[in-house]
Amino acid sequence: MTLRPYNFSAGPAVMPTEVLEQAQAELLDWRGTGMSVMEMSHRGKEFTQIAEEAESDLRELLNIPANYRVMFLQGGASSQFAMIPLNLLRGKTQADYCNTGIWSQKAIAEAQRYCSVNVVTDSTANKFTSIADPSTWQLNPNAAYVHYIANETINGLELHTPPQVGDVPLISDMSSTILSRPIDVNQFAAIYAGAQKNIGPAGLSVVIVREDLLGNPLSFTPTMFNYKVMADEKSMYNTPPTYTWYLAGLVFKWLKKQGGLTAIAETNQRKATALYKAIDDSDFYNNAIELRYRSWMNVPFTLADANLEKTFLAEAAQAGLLTLAGHRTVGGLRASIYNAMPESGVKALIDFMQAFAKRYG
Ligand code: PLP
Repeated sequence: MTLRPYNFSAGPAVMPTEVLEQAQAELLDWRGTGMSVMEMSHRGKEFTQIAEEAESDLRELLNIPANYRVMFLQGGASSQFAMIPLNLLRGKTQADYCNTGIWSQKAIAEAQRYCSVNVVTDSTANKFTSIADPSTWQLNPNAAYVHYIANETINGLELHTPPQVGDVPLISDMSSTILSRPIDVNQFAAIYAGAQKNIGPAGLSVVIVREDLLGNPLSFTPTMFNYKVMADEKSMYNTPPTYTWYLAGLVFKWLKKQGGLTAIAETNQRKATALYKAIDDSDFYNNAIELRYRSWMNVPFTLADANLEKTFLAEAAQAGLLTLAGHRTVGGLRASIYNAMPESGVKALIDFMQAFAKRYG
């Protein structure tokens, strides 16, 4: 396998090298067809096979029950901020939203175009370092659904277990946590995720919706934003992002080879635990998130002397540790350690951080 630098980008994020190598080997001629997957008709038998295999592998990995529809859609997770209320208000006018970070705020702002939003918990006052216990959330019994961002990618704040919200449908943006561990899909009315972290390249979103909720969109819902149309057309109402879908399928096969989600969860937990320990053991680094909400996937941290950030980034890049800057809206540093980041990458980062702290601390 080709050795590459370790890339800690939050998304688009590192892909498994084996997947890229397989795509490279198949680039010009997919399995003797003489065609690149990029060049195939999305309705031809070759791509149909690729698309169906990707869905069935994803269903197997996440153990998705038969009464859930799976869609592979364009528009990124940001389009889902609109598609959720457009499709899932189902005649109601109110929805519950959690405000746990920057992506929550975007989801809320979009939903407010279509319904009255009740914010059930708000982490603004603690600067998105913690979340009030879900048992204290002010749920509205008339809400069409409860929406939360499972992992706030920018803030590094993660709700590790789904909140209990009674009979109200629960909807989660899992963009930066999906496939990092097993989940019980039955607890959700809908789950969605942009691809560019644990699924594949940008340009695709995966949406999983319980099928009894489909078919009652707001009257002005654009056809391309209509879940029922997209589900009935098997995500091929129009030309889907075929190559991205194919690469996502390769990632699903790679994940199965790693032992599936239980195995990858163990690795992810070890990676996160080691990195947070290195931060906590040092006076030089800090992570402000309340322990039980620390993200397994995105680890933001600061240096005791913020003036050293540029030097840290430059020296890290020289050491083959890329894309460690925090999000432009919050600054600081951030290591994203998605599924494709091997434990050796986290170890290399920890070694570098310890050596850097010795040099400059
Ligand atoms: N939700 C979360 C949790 C994200 O991390 C992101 C992007 O990083 C988005 C939504 C927006 O995704 P997209 O850029 O695919 O629209």
